[in-house]
Amino acid sequence: MDEKHRVLKQYFGHDAFRGGQEALIDALLSGRDVLGIMPTGAGKSMCYQIPALLFDGITIIVSPLISLMSDQVTALVQAGVPAAYLNSALTPGQCNTVLNRLRAGWYKLIYVAPERLLTPGFLSVCESINISMVAVDEAHCVSQWGQDFRPSYLKIAEFLSILSGKQRPVVGAFTATATDDVRDDIVRLLGLGNPFLITTGFDRPNLYFGVIHPENKDDALLSLVSDKADRTGIVYCATRKSVEDVCSMLCEAGYPATRYHAGLTEEERRLNQQAFVYDEKRIMVATNAFGMGIDKSDVSYVIHYQMPKNIESYYQEAGRAGRDGSPAQCILLYSPKDVHTAKFLIENSEPNPELDEAAQQAVREREFLRLREMNAYCRAERCLRKSLLQYFGDQVTGDCGNCSVCKTRGAWEMTDVTAQAKTVLFCILQMHQRFGIKMITDVLRGSRGERLVSLGFDKIPTYSALRAVSENDVRQLLASLIDLGYLETEDDVYPVPKITERGQAVLADEARVVMRVPKKKEPEAETVRKNGGTSKTKRASAVSQIPDTPLMQALRVLRSSLAVKAHVPAYVIFPDAALADMCAKKPKTMEEFRSVSGVGEVKAEKYGEAFLRVICHYSD
Ligand code: ADP
Ligand code: ZN
Repeated sequence: MDEKHRVLKQYFGHDAFRGGQEALIDALLSGRDVLGIMPTGAGKSMCYQIPALLFDGITIIVSPLISLMSDQVTALVQAGVPAAYLNSALTPGQCNTVLNRLRAGWYKLIYVAPERLLTPGFLSVCESINISMVAVDEAHCVSQWGQDFRPSYLKIAEFLSILSGKQRPVVGAFTATATDDVRDDIVRLLGLGNPFLITTGFDRPNLYFGVIHPENKDDALLSLVSDKADRTGIVYCATRKSVEDVCSMLCEAGYPATRYHAGLTEEERRLNQQAFVYDEKRIMVATNAFGMGIDKSDVSYVIHYQMPKNIESYYQEAGRAGRDGSPAQCILLYSPKDVHTAKFLIENSEPNPELDEAAQQAVREREFLRLREMNAYCRAERCLRKSLLQYFGDQVTGDCGNCSVCKTRGAWEMTDVTAQAKTVLFCILQMHQRFGIKMITDVLRGSRGERLVSLGFDKIPTYSALRAVSENDVRQLLASLIDLGYLETEDDVYPVPKITERGQAVLADEARVVMRVPKKKEPEAETVRKNGGTSKTKRASAVSQIPDTPLMQALRVLRSSLAVKAHVPAYVIFPDAALADMCAKKPKTMEEFRSVSGVGEVKAEKYGEAFLRVICHYSD
């Protein structure tokens, strides 16, 4: 066994590297700078943690978030790795202790906030120690093109040039953002020298992707969480208000939910996050303010209550499911209304003070384009995984068999909806093409709204013509007519559909409208909605399943009690995947216990006996 595999097993308990890890580690060990672009959950940390343990000197990890650092350090210390962090969460006294220990050679890894790098205290310690490597986590923060620009990341290059006075350490940069501008910025602004670049491909085979177009989102959400009682999940909402509503709804229905958004006090955010990380609350309802820096590896589903603004955000947020490699579900509850919410959020987003008006406008236009792509994903009739991966530039052959489109194939049919489409188009014509989706829907469904009546729309021939169709279905129909080019809207916050030439042809009886609609009876779709990714497919079977047996439950209970004693989250003791491997291997001896995936030396030493006892009890 070579050194890097030995370290992988000894400290982290894993037998094999995941895609990309080995090549990045080899490059760093050979002294070459690297840029690793890997999706969330792919295992970037391992790429610098293993070289860090093999280098003679110390590794400095620049990381943007306090919570991220503290999680990583907790996990490393649990695994027996000497590590610490320096950030504003420490008191000056604690900082001094860490700096002194750093000078005295206590640590192999030190996590540092970018603001600290150029402080005299830190620089002076750096003068006197041997720094082998600088790893930059979330490296896209250096770029203004990224979503999380952090000006203090620009200090990293200066820090490196100061260090280069001695010997320049090797530099590794890691991110999940794949766009060319961001990648170029990272190389340039961090001053990477001819870096070894790897993009691992964006597939996360253990994730099931689903898009549901529900009649009622609350009902859909309740039905989704109902069979996940002991599982951990995140529900993302687009707005603070929606977080409040959804969280109350779940709590009233008896689910252990908590919430997180920028409108809460810092204290409450901290407490709620902690309750989630320590499994006191199983469901986190949050805006996109929640997540970066949450390392909880046992999140088994991420549900989007509204469509996010773009596919990058979606994939990053959804990617927080299943980080430990266990099967997990990512489900988006879509409604055509979500587009307006997203547009509104883009229109009203904080302007970047460093951009002038023209640049600002360009950014906004790009955001609208990206929103279109997100919308297209939700309405796609093609394999969802394929759409996502192709968006990120991966080569994809074949459909995945583990997404809601693949699984409901056969549950949809192409149907001629010319009659309904004509009604809609006539209605829009009779309303002089001057009103938005909401008003059109109300007229078609025969609402008695005050404004509608005062405008006289209750007198037009198409008034109430679709009263038998649900509001959601009318909206879906309108959205499809826009998607298919029978209607067009100018890209503003409240889109006003106008009839295109294609639409005119339908009105003139020169063309018919055929679109994909759910089959009348769809038993297959129903099971998919209930069971998501758990039913067997070609792809899912490649992923180890989490058993739901008495042994697994007993191991979970043991893990919780050990976690409480150690004051760490349960997944830091062992991830679900490790417990599942214990169930599969049923080790009897310490030797066998060490062969379980996810069991390193220190943890075997600390927890082996307790787990062996439980396994033995259940094996008899
Ligand atoms: P990222 O930073 O890329 O989002 P992490 O570094 O947090 O991902 O790793 C995600 C999870 O994958 C962690 O729980 C980690 O223990 C696990 N992991 C990483 N590498 C391996 C491996 N080679 N084998 C098994 N599990 C791994
Ligand atoms: Zn698919």
